[in-house]
Amino acid sequence: MKKIALLVSGLSLFLSACAIAPTPDTTGLTFVHLNDTYRVGAVEDGNAGGFSRVVTVVRELQANGRDVRILHGGDFLYPSLESQLWNGLQMVDAFNFMDAIAPLYAVSGNHEFDRRGPEQLIAAVEASQFDWLGDNYVFKTGNAQVDGALQPAFTFQSGDKTVGVFSLTLNSVDGGNERSYLEIDGDYMGVAEKAIEELEEKGADLIIGVTHLHMWQDVEIAGLKEKHPKLAFIVGGHEHEPEYNEGSDRSAAVMKGASNARVIWTIDVDFDATGQVTLREWQMELDKSIALDPEYEVLANKWRGRLLEKFPFLEARVGTAAVPLDAREVTVRNEESNWGNFIVDQMRNAFGEPSDLAFINGGTLRIDDFVEDDVTFEDIARTFGFSSFLRLTTMTGAEFRQVMEAGYRGFGPSKGYFPQVSGFRVCVDRSRNEGDRIVSLQVPADNGWQEIVADKGYSVVVPDYLYGGGDGYEVPKDRPASPPGSELKYLVLDGVLRAQALGQKVGAPVNPENRRFHQLLEGKQPCFE
Ligand SMILES: [Zn+2]
Repeated sequence: MKKIALLVSGLSLFLSACAIAPTPDTTGLTFVHLNDTYRVGAVEDGNAGGFSRVVTVVRELQANGRDVRILHGGDFLYPSLESQLWNGLQMVDAFNFMDAIAPLYAVSGNHEFDRRGPEQLIAAVEASQFDWLGDNYVFKTGNAQVDGALQPAFTFQSGDKTVGVFSLTLNSVDGGNERSYLEIDGDYMGVAEKAIEELEEKGADLIIGVTHLHMWQDVEIAGLKEKHPKLAFIVGGHEHEPEYNEGSDRSAAVMKGASNARVIWTIDVDFDATGQVTLREWQMELDKSIALDPEYEVLANKWRGRLLEKFPFLEARVGTAAVPLDAREVTVRNEESNWGNFIVDQMRNAFGEPSDLAFINGGTLRIDDFVEDDVTFEDIARTFGFSSFLRLTTMTGAEFRQVMEAGYRGFGPSKGYFPQVSGFRVCVDRSRNEGDRIVSLQVPADNGWQEIVADKGYSVVVPDYLYGGGDGYEVPKDRPASPPGSELKYLVLDGVLRAQALGQKVGAPVNPENRRFHQLLEGKQPCFE
């Protein structure tokens, strides 16, 4: 019973309408769902998230007699500091460890295809003992064994029940990668329905989807329950924060967890004597109260050791943070981040004379952690999971304002395209139509701030990725621009080292009196109050 108490203490929120009891200690099936994980170890100095805690949760459930399956909603091979060295094989090792404890099924996210050629994916799939799932895409790597390893809709037995699983990933139109070794069908609804019908024919008592799509697409697919009542739930990834859309007779429940297993889901599935199914969805915050698994820690320490062997200077202090610099994904993808501010301020200095304006997509900042006290080389290396080169161009105020609209499109939390900015401040009203949400965009003036001047030219520094149209930003290209230069990682390192040489600390708190990003609630208050 002590073990049950430990598990219950980790529950932060109970979202199902139907039950008061914790996980029943009868036999039954429990899914553990996670998504968007980039580290072998935990975050926040080992105090939050991480596979080690996932393993503890899985073992507790098993000790209670549950049949546990682990579901992963994609994005794990890249990007990260480790991926630059091992192309995700460190994650495959961690997944294999979990798979040996409870079967693990993973759908590919867009980041599994970050590499242009197929070699690294081939190596990852070949090393995998867990199952790679996919219904709307196929591998065309030229390696028959790897291409054949991708599992379309399948069933497994749990007790006397048959469970059907299908899975979908983003195609390039929706933010996925376009690669020669890959073919992705963008007709998610069509593919899902066909897979569900196939699973019905195989006699599935329960059907679930594992996806890497946008939330609204998952919710749309969940509506297939009206026609296909066995469809029970869809778990997904891509967004980096917990999301939940409650199920009903007409719609399956949809769930997503937070990045790096900070928040996971456990979903209990129990059948009564008549075959009626009860689902209970638990959102579980993996905080310090959940113990690390000693056996998993051996694996985590092995990879830490290898990393330190490659980069013995990793833990070296290069500077000092003036305040805790918040670079968690929940921050950089939703609001102004003080670590983001420091980084974008450096960008403006990348080409000699400081540029007027600069911005970066929050999704480029991958550390998902605080940078506190000592700024180490590791903090900088983890912030940039991939190389990011910068470009200098010019835009008129009107053009710039139009470009920035892309940063505030869509609904719901956690957008990788949400911008961190420098040289201006912006006021956004999300209740307005997409493309018309910027209420005010201001630049510094002699005595404070003024609206950006529509027909004046401004110099702008952006990452090459955004210059090229990444994340939906449409930067005008019919004018001179610098070639890609100045790698952002080293620019930031240089900024930290320069501060250190001057005896200064880096970063400053987000100024509540003068925020760079201001969001109107219901469009009621004035901007920049
Ligand atoms: Zn993704």
